[in-house]
Formats: sequence, structure tokens, C-alpha cells
Amino acid sequence: MQLTILGRSPASPNPGEACAGYLVQGGGGRVLVDIGPGVVAQLLRRHHPDELDAIVVSHMHADHMLDLVTLRYVYPWRARPKDQRLRVILPPGSADQVLDLARGAGNPRHFEDAFRLSEHDGSSPFSFSGLSLTPVETEHFIPCWGFRAEADGRLLGYTADTGPCDAVQSIADGSDLFLSEATLHGLDEDAEPPERRGHLTPSEAGEAARRAGARRLMLTHLPVDGDGSWARVAASEAFGADAEIAEPSRGYEI
Ligand SMILES: [Zn+2]
Ligand SMILES: [Zn+2]
Repeated sequence: MQLTILGRSPASPNPGEACAGYLVQGGGGRVLVDIGPGVVAQLLRRHHPDELDAIVVSHMHADHMLDLVTLRYVYPWRARPKDQRLRVILPPGSADQVLDLARGAGNPRHFEDAFRLSEHDGSSPFSFSGLSLTPVETEHFIPCWGFRAEADGRLLGYTADTGPCDAVQSIADGSDLFLSEATLHGLDEDAEPPERRGHLTPSEAGEAARRAGARRLMLTHLPVDGDGSWARVAASEAFGADAEIAEPSRGYEI
């Protein structure tokens, strides 16, 4: 199973980097999980979108889905035959927002003539050849789902965006690689109580990985200036082993 980092930026991009975008391949399947600003340009260095089985969107924040608008321009403007349209799997209940996004981009049919839009149901696994993804709902400012991706007997847990909650543990549980968001330098950057939290610090990601018995921890969706050592050190200490920082354009064997 392979993971390629197309973008690791949080909503405010790291200079020269794309926002959330992760290419996951294994078991004969290939999916792009999240498609934030800048991800399409990175994807096209490797694959035409027709080489994907699907695009899967974790939630409807701009840094995870806005490049769907850009992706449409990769295809000729005329409607594509229905059976050739790229599958886009959206979070439950997001169809209206996608229509609003299409209108905002200047054409209510912006997506439907090129893509086959559907929603997952929030809990059931879906698969592409031997690659399966199980959505797990996280705690965030809007509804959001992370995923447990399985192929070739290997397991990748991806948190998408989340505050500390049981879901983080479930996603990390027994994973060969736990790809965790670590957006916060400190708790003062998250929502104030009694508002619910929406993100993790690197130590919280490390703590969850340790408790869940994850074999490897990789931080993503974080502000990186320099080599990100502030985050790596904090996460490694809580994890009890070396944590890694996701490197843009790099492929990882899981
Ligand atoms: Zn978000
Ligand atoms: Zn985000």
C-alpha cells in the first residue's frame, strides 16, 4: 500500500505547498483523499484524474475540497458520457453545498457533466478493487469523516480534521501508519470552551497514536516553517517513538 502526499498545508497554506491531498494506492485501487487548493496541479504531475478510481472528500471546508472546481477544467467543457464520469464521493448531506459551489463557480452544472457525485453513508466501508475505505466521524467545526484505508493486509488511518475524541483512537487503532492532523501550535489556537474543539496539537496526536498502538505516526495539516522540528519533538515524546512529518511530493510505502 502506498501513500503520496500531494499537500499537507492547513487552511492557510505553507508557502509553495498545496492544502490537503493524499493519494492512496493498494490492492489494485487508487483514490485521492481530499482535494484542497493546489492539489490538482500536484496530482497532474503524476496522474490524469481518469487514472483514479475516485476522489473522496472528508468534509466541506475549503482546504479539503475547493480544487474540485479546478479539477473540472482538466476535462473538455462538453458533457462527458455518463459511464466515463469521475466518481466523487462526498460527505453525507453535502449535495446542496456542492450545488452552491457550482453556482459560485458560474455554472450550476459545473460538476455534474464531468463527475459522478455521490455521498457515503457515514459508516459503511466502500471499496475499489482490493482497497477499502471505512469512514469514521470525527469532532470538528462542521461534520467531518476520517478514514481507515485497508489494502494488501495493511492499514492506513487518516484523521482528516478533528479535535480530541474517541474517533481519533478508532482511526489510529492498530494502524500500520497513522496520518494525523496536528494543526495547533497550542490550545489557545483552537475554539474556546464551551465551544467544541476542532483540531489537535502534535502531542495530542502522539498520545492518541500511542494509546491506539499505531505502528507509525505521521503528522500532517500543520504549519511548517523550517523543518517542523517543534512538532516532531512534541509528537515523538507523547508517542514514545519517532514521529514523522509528511513531506510534500513524497511517496511512502505502508
Ligand atoms: Zn476543517
Ligand atoms: Zn482542514
